[in-house]
Amino acid sequence: MGFALFWFFASLVVAVWASNRGRSGFAWWLLSMLLSPLLGALFLAVQPNLAAQRQAAAVPDGDAGRVRCPACAEWVLPQAIKCKHCGGELVPQPLAAPVAERPAEGLEPDQQNVLLVAGFLLAVVLVVVWVVKRFG
Ligand SMILES: [Zn+2]
Repeated sequence: MGFALFWFFASLVVAVWASNRGRSGFAWWLLSMLLSPLLGALFLAVQPNLAAQRQAAAVPDGDAGRVRCPACAEWVLPQAIKCKHCGGELVPQPLAAPVAERPAEGLEPDQQNVLLVAGFLLAVVLVVVWVVKRFG
């Protein structure tokens, strides 16, 4: 029983780690349970860190509210009519335009994912506890 518990919790660690790296915690937990937590962790270690990539792709500090020039993809002020980088013509964006692209309501996909994984893991833990108590 001890080894099975270790297997289970080691897989949980892999799942949390995968989640922190912008991946599906549930998928990696399942993978770790099926193969082994060690293999799961190894696979995860060689995968690119999606969370870090997303961070890098985000608007850099100080450029908040800016828009990308369609010609050269540099960040320019939304009011600009001419790109300061390539000289291309721009359509000025109204100042009141909403900057956020994501919907105002609801959870982010990541948060939904985490909740899903947490709920599932809780269910699994409860089942494991029940089986241990029932069958010793
Ligand atoms: Zn430009």
